Amino acid sequence: MAKILEGKAVARAMSGQLRLRAEELVRRGVEPRLSILRVGENESDLAYERAAAKRCGTLGIAVETTTLPKDASTAAVLCEIDRINADERIHGCLPLRPMPAAIDDDAVRERLAAHKDVDGIGPASLARLFTGSGEGFSPCTAQACLELLDYYGVTLQGKHAVIIGRSLVVSRPLAMLMVGRDATVTICHSKTEDLPALCRTADILVVAAGKAGMVDASYLRPGQVLVDVGVNVNSEGKLCGDVCFEQAEPLVEAITPVPGGVGSVTTLVLCKHVIQAAEACLARY
Ligand code: NAP
Repeated sequence: MAKILEGKAVARAMSGQLRLRAEELVRRGVEPRLSILRVGENESDLAYERAAAKRCGTLGIAVETTTLPKDASTAAVLCEIDRINADERIHGCLPLRPMPAAIDDDAVRERLAAHKDVDGIGPASLARLFTGSGEGFSPCTAQACLELLDYYGVTLQGKHAVIIGRSLVVSRPLAMLMVGRDATVTICHSKTEDLPALCRTADILVVAAGKAGMVDASYLRPGQVLVDVGVNVNSEGKLCGDVCFEQAEPLVEAITPVPGGVGSVTTLVLCKHVIQAAEACLARY
């Protein structure tokens, strides 16, 4: 029977600290503020927006949402980002992505000011992942995986971490964060040969493929820590991860559930970054 690495416990522990920091900011005259930028009415964007706004509300972070129609131009989105960059009351901005295909994603990522890039999407934030210095933030989901492992006392130093997925949103940033913590990291993707055998060599296996239940018992061995980043909807309309939980749970040492695992920590990391940005802003004046 695996230990279940519940995200809620991590979130609770982080919330207490963050609420105190937000209160201290308000006491010093700064209300931490997040701006959410959404184009269109995509259901998963709306769900993430609701979750982020609710979490911010519980911690004392103000939230404002800017919505543009789904046929908005890149110029219109950039114009909003310029406004957000210039607004000193706003400490962090979360552009909900992917935006509609007609929007130039690179232009959006590059225009957002690095010190407001709380989801770590821009070039300065990505450079910071590689160099370990400079402005910007780590992408929230990747950072959430580390927060979760840290909370449960899973050490990374000297461990072999295998990550299924090579996206810039989750997997590559996580690989850099894990290397920074002295893990030995293997990044896998759809062209990796004999993926199950490679995964069985992992001490820590992170799955971020976006394929419901793809990791079954053949990918696993006893003693592993399994982090399931995937968020999918199964044929019964229920949320599920990339791991076949029923097969994995009796085998591995520890596993994150879906829902209730990494996703529960991601919005907390976003809040942490907004508070850090507000604190940095206060320190500048
Ligand atoms: P993505 O951009 O679609 O990347 C998926 C990656 O998985 C790609 O690198 C792909 O390889 C690889 N892959 C897909 N099928 C594979 C297979 N059968 N074998 C090996 N590799 C395979 O997705 P993403 O944005 O990284 O997101 C991954 C998952 O995390 C999704 O389910 C998403 O919903 C979820 N997510 C969760 C959170 C959270 O807070 N919990 C946040 C963000 C995303 P190729 O590069 O070769 O195509």
